[in-house]
Amino acid sequence: MAEFLVVRLVTLVVIAVISLISGLVWGELTGLALMLGLLVSWLGFHLYHLGQLLRWLERPAPRRVPDGFGPWNTVFMALYRQARRQKQSKRRLAIVLDRFINASEAMPDGVVVLDEYDRIEWINPMAVDHLGLDRRKDVGSQILNLVREPEFHDYMAEQRYSQPLILRSTGNGPELVLSIQLVPFDIKRKLLLTRDITQLERVQTVHRDFVANVSHELRTPLTVVGGFLETLSDMPAVDDATLRQFLPMMLEQSRRMQSLVEDLLTLSRIENSPHGVAPDTVDMGAMLDTLLVEAEGLSQGRHRIELQRDSAHNLLGNQQELHSAFGNLVSNAVRYTPEGGSITLRWRELDDGRAAFSVADTGIGIPPEHLPRLTERFYRVDRGRSRSNGGTGLGLAIVKHVLMRHHGKLEVRSEPEKGSEFSVVFSPEQVA
Ligand code: ADP
Repeated sequence: MAEFLVVRLVTLVVIAVISLISGLVWGELTGLALMLGLLVSWLGFHLYHLGQLLRWLERPAPRRVPDGFGPWNTVFMALYRQARRQKQSKRRLAIVLDRFINASEAMPDGVVVLDEYDRIEWINPMAVDHLGLDRRKDVGSQILNLVREPEFHDYMAEQRYSQPLILRSTGNGPELVLSIQLVPFDIKRKLLLTRDITQLERVQTVHRDFVANVSHELRTPLTVVGGFLETLSDMPAVDDATLRQFLPMMLEQSRRMQSLVEDLLTLSRIENSPHGVAPDTVDMGAMLDTLLVEAEGLSQGRHRIELQRDSAHNLLGNQQELHSAFGNLVSNAVRYTPEGGSITLRWRELDDGRAAFSVADTGIGIPPEHLPRLTERFYRVDRGRSRSNGGTGLGLAIVKHVLMRHHGKLEVRSEPEKGSEFSVVFSPEQVA
């Protein structure tokens, strides 16, 4: 700066000296005219560069910095360097901002930035989905006017940021359970984070129901056995007739508990064993022989049982699991077909290289409204009937799980009082 002023002063002195000398040589008037001319050119030079500078300041891009002469060159070069630095840091900032926005948009959780008056400053697409907001219209609006659930209003009013709010959507769409958490930041702003926990809640509910169902299933036989034991222990002497009356009933209840525990263990083994285990070739000829023997054993001559082998193919899979699934279908057919009915086991090829194992019976059948829920754990059409014939309500759940692991599909056709046909269809990849 000081150097700049010194140069300006020296220029003025040089103009004054030249004018003085020319005044002395050519007369006063000539000297004055020369000084005026020099001063005007000097002023014009600076005004020209000042104009250039002002024009550049209107749109200050580094590539538009004007060329200057003398001291103005220094000024314009300094401006050029500063503008370039600014442009580079702006570009870096834009990249960081872009990265931040992209990351926030890709987040599986919803993010809403709120200002100090709870107005929306920014929303990511997940929050739009979770809270039913509109990205264009709702920015700038009060969140409380858009999310109307009273629990949400209470949560915002209480400002209990340490604990999330569990919010169940009451809209028309599928049920959505959200975990909502407010996080204060930047002195007055807040982040509203939303997470979809619908699936988690469903799993917890299934787990709770399962535990309740198992306890309920075990309680009845335990109460019966406990009751008998109490009665027996209260008797001063137990005679043979009483024992013969009580023991079979206790035995039946303990068998019921045993089959329940066995089915539970089978289900848990299937669920917990890793997927993609190397499949064996399951000899379907031998499997059908075993199933026929088992069916006859269960039926005790009460039914006509037929086996149709229409395919010589084998299956790829786990022998034990497939036997458990097929065995459950056979056992159901025997248990839900009254005496004198017939049962047909069939192994056949379908079109496209698929194969099917089916069990058809002429039993009690199933009303159509129950068909979609048959494979749910503990789901029974007639609870009393299932229990009285030794059912646990887990057989078809086991079938479903085994089929899931073998890419198979369960198809059920049934008509009340006429009979049912349960078919297990395997894709060509499972057929050996
Ligand atoms: P359960 O141990 O009660 O038989 P399952 O899971 O094997 O349990 O079957 C679920 C329900 O489906 C049964 O309670 C029964 O009501 C019905 N069901 C299954 N197989 C048959 C069948 N072959 N005929 C009639 N109803 C059946």
